[in-house]
Amino acid sequence: MRKQIAAANWKMNLTLQQGEALLDAIISKPHSLQANQQAVFAVPFPYLPMALQKLAGKANVFVAAQNCYSKKSGAYTGEVSVEILQSIGIQYVVLGHSERREYFHESNQLLADKVNICLEYNMLPIFCCGEPLDIREAGTQNDYVAKQLEESLFHLTAAQVQKIVIAYEPIWAIGTGKTASSAQAQEMHAFIRQQLAGKYGAAVADAISILYGGSVKAANAVEIFGQPDVDGGLVGGASLIADEFVAIINALK
Ligand code: PEP
Repeated sequence: MRKQIAAANWKMNLTLQQGEALLDAIISKPHSLQANQQAVFAVPFPYLPMALQKLAGKANVFVAAQNCYSKKSGAYTGEVSVEILQSIGIQYVVLGHSERREYFHESNQLLADKVNICLEYNMLPIFCCGEPLDIREAGTQNDYVAKQLEESLFHLTAAQVQKIVIAYEPIWAIGTGKTASSAQAQEMHAFIRQQLAGKYGAAVADAISILYGGSVKAANAVEIFGQPDVDGGLVGGASLIADEFVAIINALK
C-alpha cells in the first residue's frame, strides 16, 4: 500500500515561539495516523531541532527541511548540506518547490543533482513539480511536467526512484486560494504515474506516493485525497493553522 502523507510547508513563516505553539496545538488535538500514513513538517532550518524534539517518539511523524544544497560540503556560505541535515536527524527534504524554482532559479538539472545527493545520504526527497498558469492555459501542462520528471528524476534506477515522494503543485494554485479541481488533480496524478510506469514499470509506479499541493485546506482535503492517484498533500497556508492541519491529516485515506 502506498504511503499517504500530509506534509506541512511552513515556508518562511512564524517565529520560533509561534512555531512551538503551533506544534503544541497540533500534537494536543486528536489525530489518527494509520500504518500507511505520515505527517511531515517542513519547517525553517533554525526550527528543525525544536520540531525534532517536540515530535520525538510520535509514530509516523517526520520533520523535513525545505531545501538543501547540491554539494557535499565546502565553501558554500549560507547553504545547508544533506550531511548537515542528516547529522541532526532529518529524514525528508522538500526539493524544487516552485518558489525556489522561481525566486532562486533552481533548474531541473540542479534538482537532479540535489536528488542524487539526497539519495546518496538516504535522505528522502519530496520532489515538487507543476506548471505555471500560462502553460495550463495553453494546455501543455502534461509536456511541461513530463520534462521536469525526465530531467530531474528519470536518470535514477527503479530502486532509487521508489524513495522519492512526488508533489504535484500547479503554480497557479499555490497560495492563491485557487485549487485545482479534484478531477484536474487526478488527471495530472494519473499522467505522472503513467510516465513513471512507462519508464520503470507499473509496479514501481504504483509504489510511489504523489501528493497534491495548491490551496489544500480542511474543506477540500477529503475530496482531493479521495482521488485514486492522490496520496495526500503538500500544504502551505492551511498548515499554519492547527485545526486546519489536523483536519487535513485526518482526511488521509
Ligand atoms: C505549498 O507551499 O507548497 C503550497 C501548496 O501552498 P498553499 O497550500 O498555501 O497553496
